[in-house]
Amino acid sequence: MKVVKFGGSSVASAEQLVKVKDIVISDTDRKFVIVSAPGKRDKADIKVTDLLIDLATEILHDSENASATFNQIVDRFRDTAEGLEMDLAIIDKISKQLNDLINSGITAQPAYFTDAIKAFGEDANAQLIAAYFSGLGYEASYLNPQDAGLFLSDNPGQARVLPESYQNLYKLRKQDGIIVIPGFFGYTKDGKLVTFSRGGSDITGAIVANGVKASMYENFTDVSSIYVANPSVVHNPVAIEQLTYSEMRELSYAGFSVFHDEALQPAFIADIPVAVKNTNEPHAPGTLITRTRPKNNLAISGIASTSGFASVYIKKYMMNREVGFVRRVLSVLERYGVSFEHIVSGIDDIDVIFKEDALSKKELEEMIAEIKAETVADAVEKRDNLSLLMLVGEGMIENIGNTARATKALSNADINLEMINQGSSEISVMFGIIEEREDDAVRAIYKEFFN
Ligand code: ASP
Repeated sequence: MKVVKFGGSSVASAEQLVKVKDIVISDTDRKFVIVSAPGKRDKADIKVTDLLIDLATEILHDSENASATFNQIVDRFRDTAEGLEMDLAIIDKISKQLNDLINSGITAQPAYFTDAIKAFGEDANAQLIAAYFSGLGYEASYLNPQDAGLFLSDNPGQARVLPESYQNLYKLRKQDGIIVIPGFFGYTKDGKLVTFSRGGSDITGAIVANGVKASMYENFTDVSSIYVANPSVVHNPVAIEQLTYSEMRELSYAGFSVFHDEALQPAFIADIPVAVKNTNEPHAPGTLITRTRPKNNLAISGIASTSGFASVYIKKYMMNREVGFVRRVLSVLERYGVSFEHIVSGIDDIDVIFKEDALSKKELEEMIAEIKAETVADAVEKRDNLSLLMLVGEGMIENIGNTARATKALSNADINLEMINQGSSEISVMFGIIEEREDDAVRAIYKEFFN
């Protein structure tokens, strides 16, 4: 049994849904189909999820734009249904459901209201796709995550799976036909709809794959492969045939958006291979993600980079002798609800790196003042506009000199290293650089390792 997940661009139009149908029916193992909300049909288009977020905000602010946005959303589904020559009763049903949601009285709890509206793109699309398959004579049904027993933690917009979901999902193996499940959301134990973070349909797919003990989790998107570097930064980069879960986790954390970084764990713990494939070119081999992979002669599997980080630099003479110093710093971060991404330390100083959007400017200033007071440091300074560049590869464990080659390449490109961090697993090295030089840095490292 396979779980197949289709991303937003794969389910954005009638034309794409014909491809989805062909892919699903071409392999009888493809039983569980997880779908995103309709994504962009072209560069200028707007994702249905973004329209839904606008709609939720407009309703919460009593904006008169709400009815136009409502119509725009329903029209997206109508266009698809018309293109597939479906019975348009499904559109009346979708329109009524959205209307009922808006009037369900949960506007009093804005976070849950926003999640319920935000998830509607997936929910409506799954119903439409199941109806499309059945209309063609295939045995297919829509399954709501609540009926599937997909229970999540009570964190709107950031929910995590509750372990009991896996046993509930296992029962679905017995159900006949193709089962179409909307991605991106589930329910709390007391019945509130909550979503994962953005891009979270990948997570649903991985959870279902784990729950039903699938032989494979196929993730269909709009690229034929994962590449060693971002194709919009490096011209024609080398394609990756196979990666380990750990490599993929590091790469997706640092900007490889093709696969959600939280989607690996459920597949990893059940040892389910993940194949990233292209809906527009389904026969291309794609990229396979597994626990281990055959060795190749490359030390580096991928180069990822991501911007939007800030750090607090703390300097105190004899910091190395002060017991509990980092704990005191982190206790301040904890009070501000900030989780750190990396810590880079020296004898007398540390840099604590976190996501820039974790705090407002004012909160950051207050936090710095508190760190100063708490640690009696000689200096506490903030640094922003920081990008992280990650060199990832299991091959680095056995290969000497990769960091040397990378730093040389960066120095030749006149790029200053703000910080360096190598995890003890030795499968990744992180460089902190200023945002403006991020793309140049990726190109310099690519050239060094792959040209
Ligand atoms: N539709 C959601 C988003 O745009 C989830 C997904 O597509 O995975 O974030």
